[in-house]
Amino acid sequence: MNYVDVWGEVLSSLRKTLPSHALSAWFEPVDPIGFSGDKILLEVPNQFFAEWIESHYDKELRAALRSNSGKGTNYRFIISDKEPTPLNASESNTGTTTAPLYKNNINKQYRFENFIEGSNNEFAKNAAFSVANNPGKNGFNPLIIYGGVGLGKTHLMHAIGNEAIHKNPELNVVIITSEKFTLDFVNSLRKNKTIEFTQQYRKADILLIDDIQFFRGKEQTQEQFFHTFNVLYQSGKQIVMTADKYPGEMKGLQTRLLSRFQSGLSVDIQPPNFEVRVAILLEKAEQNGLSLDYDVVEFIARHIKENVRDLEGTIIRILAKSSLMNIEIDHDLVRQVVQERTGGRLNNDISMEDIIKQVSISSSVPEKEIVGSSRKMEISKARQISMYLCREIMGASLNNIGMYFGGRDHTTVMHAVKCIKEKNEKEEEVKAFILSIKQDLGYAFS
Ligand code: ADP
Ligand code: MG
Repeated sequence: MNYVDVWGEVLSSLRKTLPSHALSAWFEPVDPIGFSGDKILLEVPNQFFAEWIESHYDKELRAALRSNSGKGTNYRFIISDKEPTPLNASESNTGTTTAPLYKNNINKQYRFENFIEGSNNEFAKNAAFSVANNPGKNGFNPLIIYGGVGLGKTHLMHAIGNEAIHKNPELNVVIITSEKFTLDFVNSLRKNKTIEFTQQYRKADILLIDDIQFFRGKEQTQEQFFHTFNVLYQSGKQIVMTADKYPGEMKGLQTRLLSRFQSGLSVDIQPPNFEVRVAILLEKAEQNGLSLDYDVVEFIARHIKENVRDLEGTIIRILAKSSLMNIEIDHDLVRQVVQERTGGRLNNDISMEDIIKQVSISSSVPEKEIVGSSRKMEISKARQISMYLCREIMGASLNNIGMYFGGRDHTTVMHAVKCIKEKNEKEEEVKAFILSIKQDLGYAFS
């Protein structure tokens, strides 16, 4: 059997042990070129390719070679000396590219003007703005913006790009997600075009790279990024990255990379507080041509708290529901949408203590009587209403409510809840009282 046939056999047995993407990414580009002793010589596009196969598929490859019926029980890689084919033929002919490659990937909607500033993000915003206006020149290099999901990191990063280009249209702003960077890198390896890959990035005046936590555990990509980073950094080019955590706390990234990152400025974005949420909602409503009453905005802001993406999503949902179902945007609709988004529960930050306190204020029954044992009519009514509200607002379990109210049995709580539920439907006075408590707690619209 000649080496081509041996390789053919090896490939068919690898097909049984490896996923097809591994085969097409790493084995199909390999060319058998001969034998040397008991080794089959395999030509691979570059060093990285050889290392990748060795570090990931050595075991499988050896096993496949051992089981083949011909010569060659081991392998050796030969790095190809063929000229790599350029990524884009016409580009390489002219030698230069004038149009910045990634300019169009910048989201024009993400600007500083529509980024709402609050105490949770003002430091990040100011740093970003400063970098956009003086890329590479103010010591904030690299700038790392970190924080949880949906808090505006990507928005700020694109805002830097937009602002920088607005100030100086000549700038080559390269913006990319870490995921795309990784994919492009791996593809460039497969096609033997790492040089072009590298050049794309090294021509950047500003490199904006999103979600670097994606590099976690991807050693070779990190390596590649490290070199790109150094080249840019040393020539005074600005680098901006976003991450889900403070770089010092990121796992799975090489220490030298992390310490490089920390030499610049790291700024965080926190979840927005109530006022910022209201401001964001008003802005997003306006952007969507939606006019919302202030009490509706406040209601949403009280319930949707974790991130800005959810606030935005709520507005869009309200809009969609009202137009699809052709109904007015009223309190019911808003409540329904908010409830859907919070998984059915409203105001999970109201505690039994808050409820009892409020009932006590409105009924003039002291708090300790409410959870006490007195059977006086007005006291036990306040108690029952409190229990009912704990159940309805918090969705607390009968047992927990019973425990909180002086160690009562769950059947007592069940009875109280049922009784008030009926009264709430039949007795105007009870209904009004319950509504006023809910409003005071910020649970119902006022
Ligand atoms: P991250 O990248 O941190 O996960 P994004 O930047 O994608 O978050 O933000 C999610 C959404 O919320 C985007 O539509 C963005 O425009 C919006 N957003 C986030 N923060 C703000 C803010 N401070 N002002 C206005 N919109 C914001
Ligand atoms: Mg993002």
